[in-house]
Amino acid sequence: MTTKVSFYGGLDEIGGNKILLEDKGTRIFLDFGKSFAKRSKYYDFFTKPRLVNGIGDLLELGIIPDLKGIYRKDLLSLAGRTNSKEKKDEEDRSVDAVVLSHAHSDHADHVSLLREDIPVYMGWITKTILESIEDERNSDIEFEITRFKKRPINSKDEPISREIRTFKTSDSFAIDSITVKPVHVDHSIPGCYGLIIDTSEGRIIYSGDLRTHGNKGNLTKDFVEEAAKERKPDLMLCEGTRINEAAYHTESDVYDSCKFLVSQTRACLVFAEYSYKDIDRFTTFYKIAKETNRKLLIGIRAARYLQALKLADPSLGIPEIDDESIGIYRPRELKCAPDNKEFYEKHSNIWTFSDMKAKESQLIVSMSSYSLDELIDIEPSKGLYIHSTSEPFNEEGEIDEQRTKRWLAKYGLKSVHCHCSGHASGIELAKIVNTIDPKIVVPIHTEQHDLFPILFHQRVAIVKEGNHVNLMGA
Ligand SMILES: [Zn+2]
Repeated sequence: MTTKVSFYGGLDEIGGNKILLEDKGTRIFLDFGKSFAKRSKYYDFFTKPRLVNGIGDLLELGIIPDLKGIYRKDLLSLAGRTNSKEKKDEEDRSVDAVVLSHAHSDHADHVSLLREDIPVYMGWITKTILESIEDERNSDIEFEITRFKKRPINSKDEPISREIRTFKTSDSFAIDSITVKPVHVDHSIPGCYGLIIDTSEGRIIYSGDLRTHGNKGNLTKDFVEEAAKERKPDLMLCEGTRINEAAYHTESDVYDSCKFLVSQTRACLVFAEYSYKDIDRFTTFYKIAKETNRKLLIGIRAARYLQALKLADPSLGIPEIDDESIGIYRPRELKCAPDNKEFYEKHSNIWTFSDMKAKESQLIVSMSSYSLDELIDIEPSKGLYIHSTSEPFNEEGEIDEQRTKRWLAKYGLKSVHCHCSGHASGIELAKIVNTIDPKIVVPIHTEQHDLFPILFHQRVAIVKEGNHVNLMGA
């Protein structure tokens, strides 16, 4: 029987990876992420599918694939697809497992929609990250990966926990005829893995998202070495998010440049916009704050995330949130979970907007483009705004950027852009693929698949969504 890889998302788009591997009747998904490209055709950040229709809206709009036996019964029932009271209408489970490469939304979020009897394999840090974010967010059918409440919600129902099986680097595990060996890689969130997968018809390498130019590029080198060992892989599913970039700034470039900028900025506030999930970037700004005699002010969500990760993995080197170079910003309006009050009372390094006014030159304030309304209270008259995330890659991102610019102009803030990508450049990818040297490369997670056959001398197969690749005789 042939071994087959089918693609239901994540080919000609950045993210939304949903790759189905079938071998001798065993079926596993490699990632089951949210497709921003498909979703943003119909929704923006604030609009979402109607809960009353379960997964009906997502199916109707082609945001998720219409496959039998994979989705939650409660959401199918709301969509009118099955009557949960009549057993005869029920679909049998058609997938044996999902293996997650990392915790980013475009790889993990739509696991939320899957049946709870499908086990989900993930790195132990990925589990910590997902649980920490879930604790801070309101329930949402598109983000309840580790546990969920059946819809419509009945207050007497206990949440249903998914069957999560965690792994560490090089812990091989078998799902029937398929053996998966996850090996750590470096990316812009901790706990990322590439997968080395042995099937009855050959070896498949799944890159996940990776880079070699980050602080922990040696993790990716371990994966590449391991993937090149023993036998020539038959197929490599290789990300190409940034294949069109020749080379990149490293994290230490970001540190050097931003430290220089902060030390030049006197008598005013410095803001830093970065993803709070990116521990490397947090560490960069934490070090800069410490070395320039400022405090890094973070929000409660970031503080809780740091606490959870520090506990899960002390080797990440995360400082205590009560560290003298860290402060926690308390906004006037408490937006998140109800026990926030208790959290603020427990910590002594809490800063309000009026505390900040008196000590502008002693702070770096981490900021998100969704909390710019805090500037109304903070009321800076001038300052530096370090934009330390990727540049907008779609129209929606450009609209957000224009909005951010108007906020900054209103409060006299001057912005600079300084970032190190979570994804490998074209040169890094060419070196990775040359070392692994698979028989066939399938470009995934990219809008630039045409560059693959130019940069790689290996055979490149461009696949269209909904199609598949057979391993036997591929
Ligand atoms: Zn990612």
